Amino acid sequence: MKTILVVEDDPNIARLIRDYLHQAGFRVLAAADDNRALALAADAEPDLVVLDLGLPGRDGLDVMRELRRASGVPIIVVTARGEETDRIVGLELGADDYVVKPFSPKELVARVRAIFRRLEAQHEPRDLLRAGEVEIDVARHRVMVGEHPIELTATEFELLVTMVREPGRVFTRGQLLDALHGVALESYERAIDAHIKNIRRKLQPVPGAPQHIQTVYGVGYRFADTLSS
Ligand code: CA
Repeated sequence: MKTILVVEDDPNIARLIRDYLHQAGFRVLAAADDNRALALAADAEPDLVVLDLGLPGRDGLDVMRELRRASGVPIIVVTARGEETDRIVGLELGADDYVVKPFSPKELVARVRAIFRRLEAQHEPRDLLRAGEVEIDVARHRVMVGEHPIELTATEFELLVTMVREPGRVFTRGQLLDALHGVALESYERAIDAHIKNIRRKLQPVPGAPQHIQTVYGVGYRFADTLSS
C-alpha cells in the first residue's frame, strides 16, 4: 500500500483530503506544521507528499527545499488561488504537480494516481536510452552524463526520457505537458519551462557549455541529436 504524507494546517481540508485518499486505497499520514512534516517525511519515507504552501511557521517553499534536499519523493503542492509565483517557484524547486485551492478532492486523487502511474511505467523491463554522453536506465530511474550520476525528480526524469526517446524531435510545451499527465490539463506551459531549466542545470552545471536540450524559438524544445556549441 502506498503511503501519502498530507501537510495541511487547515483541519477541515486535511480531513477531506485524508478521507478521499484513504477511500482511494492509500495509507495517509498527516502533518499540520513544518516540523512535523519534515520529521514524518524522514521517519516514514512516504511514497508521495501533498504539501500546502500556506503553512504557519516556516514557509511551505522552505519545507519543500528541505524535502528535496533529502529525497526525490514526488510532491504535489497546494497553493491558494492567485499565488502563481508560488506555483512557479514550487515547480522550480522540483514539485511534480500542483493543485490550486479550492480544488476538488477527486481531482487531487486523480493527480496522485497519475504520478504513481508514471512512476510504474518507468519501472517496466530494462530500457536503456543513450544520446551522446547522456545515458538513461529507465527501469532503474538512473541518469548518467558521462561518468556522473544525475539526480532528477520524477517529473524531470519523465520529461528527459520523453525527449531522449526521440532525439532531434521538437516537442511543443503542450506535448511535453501531455507526456507528463497523459491527459491535457490546464495548459500551464511556464511549468514546462521551469522543469526544463532544472534539467539543464543538472545536466550541464558548467555555464556556457553546449546544451543538450535546445530551445526552438516559438515552438518548444528538443534534445540535441548532436551537441554543438
Ligand atoms: Ca494553509
